[in-house]
Amino acid sequence: MLRIAIQSKGRLNEESLALLDEIGVDVDDSRRKFLSKASNFPLEILYMRDDDIPQVVSNGTASLGIVGLNEVEERGFDVEIVTKLGFGGCRISLAIPKTEEYNGVQYFQGKRIATSYPNILRKFLEKNSVTADIEVITGSVEIAPAAGIADAIFDIVSSGGTLVSNGLKEVEKVFFSEAVLISSGKLTEDEKASLEEILFRLESARISKGKKYILMNLKEEVVEEAIKILPAMRSPTILPLAAKGWCSLHSVVDADNLWEKVRQLKEIGAEGILVLNVDKIIM
Ligand code: ATP
Ligand code: MG
Repeated sequence: MLRIAIQSKGRLNEESLALLDEIGVDVDDSRRKFLSKASNFPLEILYMRDDDIPQVVSNGTASLGIVGLNEVEERGFDVEIVTKLGFGGCRISLAIPKTEEYNGVQYFQGKRIATSYPNILRKFLEKNSVTADIEVITGSVEIAPAAGIADAIFDIVSSGGTLVSNGLKEVEKVFFSEAVLISSGKLTEDEKASLEEILFRLESARISKGKKYILMNLKEEVVEEAIKILPAMRSPTILPLAAKGWCSLHSVVDADNLWEKVRQLKEIGAEGILVLNVDKIIM
């Protein structure tokens, strides 16, 4: 049976579970142990610290995993990246005390840099021909300069708020990360079929994101104009109404420009406009 390793608690846990829910995999999360079984899909869920996920996937303990690209890169285990998942976005950056003047990566020559990501940092420094001391610390890296442990830090940044509150400024954005689905690459035929099904459902969920279903009543003579405003997947659905000369037009639109479309439709006389959420789009 396919087994997927996800973070047991932390920033990726909730969204990993939400993703399973979105693709219709029911996981009994109420009595969470370290291993649980989906009730309606051939899938076991293994809950782990995110640091360990690349390793358990590369050695085959789990066939799949959901983890940040940063951990995959840092740990260096041999795993396949199946797809990006669109959440858990962050970057790993070099930051220095905000009072320091910065004029390029050579700044770091001979400096002490605190980080939990020594391998990614080492690669970056080598590429830039900079020699620095890497101090590996596992938690609260951002306090290292104030505590006198290091001159600079190399740490995860998302909004930058933590840096500012510790008197630091971001000077080099080195590595961009998001959550990814990884695979051991050693799946049985049955497991491969389950993975295909997961990917198919993920794609449906991805397509339906940010989409709205819109329907309205229109006079028949403005239908052509309405179709120009609302290009649908193939073409909009048009149904006759009991009232003569009127019809109902149904389509799918991007949520981003919904209000712009609604304004244009009202201008050509659309009435009774209904906007509904789209749960899934299956192409
Ligand atoms: P664990 O106990 O599982 O080892 P952790 O403390 O190492 O957890 P979290 O802070 O939960 O890790 O972060 C998990 C992942 O979330 C990171 O590796 C990164 O990919 C992603 N992430 C996204 N935004 C941030 C952020 N602002 N800070 C830290 N991680 C982030
Ligand atoms: Mg961790």
